[in-house]
Parts: sequence; structure tokens; C-alpha cells
Amino acid sequence: MKIALIAHDRKKDLMVKLVTAYRPILAKHQLFATGTTGGRIADATDLPIHRFKSGPLGGDQQIGAMISEDEMDMVIFLRDPLAAQPHEPDVTALIRLSDVYEIPLATNIGTAEILLRGLDAGFADFREVVHEGDRRPISI
Ligand code: PGA
Repeated sequence: MKIALIAHDRKKDLMVKLVTAYRPILAKHQLFATGTTGGRIADATDLPIHRFKSGPLGGDQQIGAMISEDEMDMVIFLRDPLAAQPHEPDVTALIRLSDVYEIPLATNIGTAEILLRGLDAGFADFREVVHEGDRRPISI
């Protein structure tokens, strides 16, 4: 499965702790991240991770583009709800696209842990079925 990891600045330490704790699960999957988050993860672990541009410079949109092609299977986005982001429209767009394509999305550590445990238990296997079919989002 392809998993996107994104963390706002005040959540980056938490992301590193999450990835370190769940390394055995994450190591079985393909990891993607926005630039700075990916750099922190690469420094702290030996996990291979594809780094896009930094979030404010378009990284969120690059991940959104993968979602829109049904090329991303899970998103862990540790948002900072207490700080304004210069790229707030991109953040909103990424969350919106996850909903359009029904991609499992965690925006806080509590949900992230449940998603990763669920991933390991096979609860996200429906994504494999999605890849087999020509799936389109429901048109509004
Ligand atoms: P960053 O981007 O990992 O490059 O800091 C995260 C974000 O979207 O703010």
C-alpha cells in the first residue's frame, strides 16, 4: 500500500515517534511524505521514503494529485489545529480529495494509531480491490 505521511511543524516530533513506534508495520509499505516531514523521518529511521516538495511549496498538492489518480491508499496528516498555515487551501484540498476518493485519512495521532493497526490487520485491503477496478468517485 502507498501511505502518505505529513506533519505540520509542531507535530513533526510526534510523527517521528509514530513512525518509530510503528516501523515494523510501515516497513511493509511504500512511504511518501512532504519534504520536511520526510527529511525528519529519513533522519530518524532507515525506512525508504519518497519525499515530495515541502507542504507550503506544493507538496500537499503533489500528494493530492496522487490521490486523484487513486494512487494513494492511506494518508496520515498530523495537522496543527492551533496554528494558521500559509497553505491552508492546500491542506483543505488534500483532506477534501481524501474524502472524494474515500482514502483512509487520519488527522491526529489517536486516529493514526488505529489506522496503522487496522492496516496491519488487513482492514485496508479493500484498497487492493479498488486498484483492480476502474473506480470513479461519485459525481455530485
Ligand atoms: P513539510 O510540509 O513536511 O514540508 O513541513 C508539511 C505541511 O504540509 O505543512
